[in-house]
Amino acid sequence: MLEEAALTLALLHFGFPLYYYSWAKGMLGKSVRAGRDPGFTPRVAVVIPTYNEAGNIERKLEDIYSQDYPRDRITVYIVDSASSDGTVGKALDWASRHKDIEVRIVEEGERRGKGRALNTALNTIDGGFDFIVVTDADAFWANRDALRNALSYFSDESVGAVSCVKTPGGGGFTGVESGYRDFYNVVRLGESSAYSTPVFHGELSAYRRRLLEDLGGFPTDIGSDDSHTATLIAVKGYRAIVAPDVYCYEPVPRRKYFHWRVRRAQHLIQHFAKSIRLLPRSPKAFRKILAAEIFLHLANPILLLISIALLAYSAYKGSPLSLSLLALGTALLAYKPYRTWIVMQLILLVAMVKNAFRKE
Ligand code: GDP
Ligand code: MN
Repeated sequence: MLEEAALTLALLHFGFPLYYYSWAKGMLGKSVRAGRDPGFTPRVAVVIPTYNEAGNIERKLEDIYSQDYPRDRITVYIVDSASSDGTVGKALDWASRHKDIEVRIVEEGERRGKGRALNTALNTIDGGFDFIVVTDADAFWANRDALRNALSYFSDESVGAVSCVKTPGGGGFTGVESGYRDFYNVVRLGESSAYSTPVFHGELSAYRRRLLEDLGGFPTDIGSDDSHTATLIAVKGYRAIVAPDVYCYEPVPRRKYFHWRVRRAQHLIQHFAKSIRLLPRSPKAFRKILAAEIFLHLANPILLLISIALLAYSAYKGSPLSLSLLALGTALLAYKPYRTWIVMQLILLVAMVKNAFRKE
């Protein structure tokens, strides 16, 4: 009896993501179904939020500078929240050496978080910009045509937001990171082909400005400002897509990898918890995607936990079947994709517990 319940939960836990992955893979063949004009190069405001990014800001500006995009159509807005490491000085110095790209610095008197900083930028950017690209200072674009490709999708009026495909960059623990990415990227792209994805990336998130203004700016109460904004745009009936020809990467921290991953997971969990109420007003094509992602992030890890607890209990009570299932589950850890999956589930569970006690 206990064994049956445990098995059912385990089958659901592993079966649903496999089903979803194969659905997403099938969708890939259909491309993103958005019309696009590669010659569409509108004026664009590239916003870099910075808090103590002196070590990254020059490389970041070089990265944007070296894009294959008309430089006179890019304005970089650095919104800095009282960095104490000389970020602004470094940015000003770089700008003085590169007069052929416009760099504006917006300074906040105190640190109030990335979301608020982005809203400050949004209020500052002048009226000549219909498109806004937000990009983290510690993340980079992997192809020279990333910006051009991302913006080209906006030539289709139904596209409201565009983000990048993440490729793993240097640092430690790239094994777990890249294993996870294979699953993750297929799902992001499949969702984008079908309609929209509710997960965006801080490395490059491009928005139709009008929609940001309709939403009243970026959320300031949760960590995933990019994913939540993309989701709200998709709920409005516009496409929010991860584009297959826009690559970005973020150096994976060498130290405190788990802490970092858990913090990310906490942000995603906050985002999906807040998105539950959006389900009834989502367009049908998006409702399925959003519901699946809510299930995967909020419920699925718990199914695994309950299943393991039931097996452990019935093994303790002397069930040979439960004992062998537990042994099998442990032996499979030698198989990398499975191990990666289990680690991700643990990270989500830890993040849920941490969220319950403290919002970070
Ligand atoms: P993580 O990638 O989720 O670990 O978050 P980061 O700490 O890398 O922050 C993402 C981006 O937002 C980076 O460019 C940070 O410098 C920037 N950022 C974080 N907090 C603030 C803030 O309070 N104000 C501003 N202006 N930028 C911030
Ligand atoms: Mn970062």
